[in-house]
Amino acid sequence: MTGDRLLEPREVPLGGVRGLTVHRTLPHRALPTVGAWCFVDHFGPTRETMTVLPHPHTGLQTVTWPLAGDIRHRDSLGSDVVLKPGELNLMTSGDGVSHSEFSVGDGTMMHGIQLWVALPDGARTGPPAFEHIPDLPRTGGDGWRATVLMGELADVQSKAVTYSPLVGAELTLGAGKPATIPLKAGFEHAVLAVDGTVRVGGFDLAHRQMLHLEPGRSSVDLEVPRDATVLLIGGEPFTEPLVMWWNFIGRTHEDIVQAREDWEQAAERFGQVDGHDGQVIPAPPLPHVRLTPRRRRV
Ligand code: MN
Repeated sequence: MTGDRLLEPREVPLGGVRGLTVHRTLPHRALPTVGAWCFVDHFGPTRETMTVLPHPHTGLQTVTWPLAGDIRHRDSLGSDVVLKPGELNLMTSGDGVSHSEFSVGDGTMMHGIQLWVALPDGARTGPPAFEHIPDLPRTGGDGWRATVLMGELADVQSKAVTYSPLVGAELTLGAGKPATIPLKAGFEHAVLAVDGTVRVGGFDLAHRQMLHLEPGRSSVDLEVPRDATVLLIGGEPFTEPLVMWWNFIGRTHEDIVQAREDWEQAAERFGQVDGHDGQVIPAPPLPHVRLTPRRRRV
């Protein structure tokens, strides 16, 4: 018996006409975070379109990693960028930012991952920022290659700005070649099977499933029956309480109520995204309960 735990994805419609359905593994009801990673959405491969109108964020970074299809990102900082496979978009909300995301072209194949990183106190109320990073570092070993999106893996470090010790990397694995990936023992980690089956820790992880690895490991062995892509995330366990609702992360119920009200009032906090004729995604109604921090049950 190991402390590894299999996390099944749940399907969530992102909205919009013929809009994308995403497969969400974090937050999971048993596990709110892996390090500071608090949200993992996997979409496609699909010919559905991404049509996400302007919406706000607080207290987090959005990390967008397409494997197929181009995504146009526009935000309240004035950014207007077409993101291509192999490139990273990193948006830091600080106290408030808004953005839109649209697939480029109609009916093109879309495949990718969007993740959130919770910002720690200090950064979570800071200024917003946006980075588009087309040239991420690569590393690897026997049977594996890695592109390091965030943080550090093996001997290389991404230049993406981080606010807590973490790692996010895309691993490509060769069929039938066992690979040993070095891990930081002080981190917790999880692996997501992006496009095929992965044998890890005695589990056969199917497409879209995630395995949360027992903390304290200094490496993990992965093996694939066919060439496959795996996402590795990890970091120092994030101990600040996270109240997550819709697109906001705060520390208290009141933080969320204020953020929702500010969005509904079009407050300066969230700025404006040009090019959408004032269209935005309205906040849903708040639930009739006090929002509380998500708790870990593993
Ligand atoms: Mn967003």
